[in-house]
Amino acid sequence: MSILVIAEHDNKALNGATLNVVAAAQKIGGDITVLVAGSGAQAVADQAAKVAGVSKVLLADDAAYANQLAENVAKLVASIGSGYSHILAASTTTGKNVLPRAAALLDVSMITDIIAVEGPKTFKRPIYAGNAIATVESGESIVVATVRGTAFDAVAAEGGSAAIEAAASAGDAGISKFVSEEIVKSERPELTAARIVVSGGRGVGSGENYHTVLDPLADKLGAAQGASRAAVDAGFVPNDMQVGQTGKIVAPDLYIAVGISGAIQHLAGMKESKVIVAINKDEEAPINSVADYWLVGDLNTVVPELVSKI
Ligand SMILES: Cc1cc2nc3c(=O)[nH]c(=O)nc-3n(C[C@H](O)[C@H](O)[C@H](O)COP(=O)(O)OP(=O)(O)OC[C@H]3O[C@@H](n4cnc5c(N)ncnc54)[C@H](O)[C@@H]3O)c2cc1C
Repeated sequence: MSILVIAEHDNKALNGATLNVVAAAQKIGGDITVLVAGSGAQAVADQAAKVAGVSKVLLADDAAYANQLAENVAKLVASIGSGYSHILAASTTTGKNVLPRAAALLDVSMITDIIAVEGPKTFKRPIYAGNAIATVESGESIVVATVRGTAFDAVAAEGGSAAIEAAASAGDAGISKFVSEEIVKSERPELTAARIVVSGGRGVGSGENYHTVLDPLADKLGAAQGASRAAVDAGFVPNDMQVGQTGKIVAPDLYIAVGISGAIQHLAGMKESKVIVAINKDEEAPINSVADYWLVGDLNTVVPELVSKI
């Protein structure tokens, strides 16, 4: 078997999510090639070559890949990927943007969000917001799949010594162009990779109160910050902070849910966290069904008190 893993990166550094995808590839078994599509991305290829278990890195360096436009990257993945038995990417915004397009170009169906490898073509994946797990078998000649990172322990970033080869660019697909991007700069850890996550829900009341109450807690714990969809929809915080079925999937060592009721769509994004703490004034809030610890009280007094004691 030959597996092509699509690297996620920003032209400077390899995103940790790629290490989880390589772990899933190892479970499938076979030669693992990492494709780095970028512009001025030699440093990313160098990092990918050091990843444990990787046998080859393909670097497609072209201005067409500078901003990871899905149309351009998918065209490249389809042209290179036809020679592989499996094509894998992280189940992130980027992976979910690129891989369905590549699968369509290859005229194969794809499997999304795999959480376990049962065989070379058989996988487990969550359905109904994680309330049931389906075992699916691909009948395609090329298995195209996105991998839920939290379900696979990352391989070591160091220890490998793969060869780096240049790959021919597939050029610009000519159907999209990069205009601009606004990136929220934060000193906090990235939400999906953080060891501790502090999330706020509708119960925090406003964007201002979100920061007044939750920032000191996140600062003390060195935590990333998340939110429920209700908090995002109300405009308290940007939507890249949403945790849940239609947001990000996280599984940190510690997840603190503040003023979040625990709707199944929210639980779908955080219930695999190792320790869950809920802070809610309603002792019957559904979040308590998954919480290891819960503090019943008004978040406006409980959280500052907690911060003063850490
Ligand atoms: C297709 C679909 C996809 C969805 N995807 C997502 C998703 O990805 N993520 C997500 O989060 N939701 C998602 N939702 C929405 C979800 O169903 C809930 O509406 C949402 O999670 C509720 O957010 P919340 O818990 O912040 O708000 P609420 O349900 O309103 O809960 C607020 C909580 O705060 C508590 N509270 C209020 N004031 C205080 C106080 N002063 N002190 C302490 N506690 C207080 C209340 O007791 C309550 O439990 C989705 C819904 C649908 C239909």
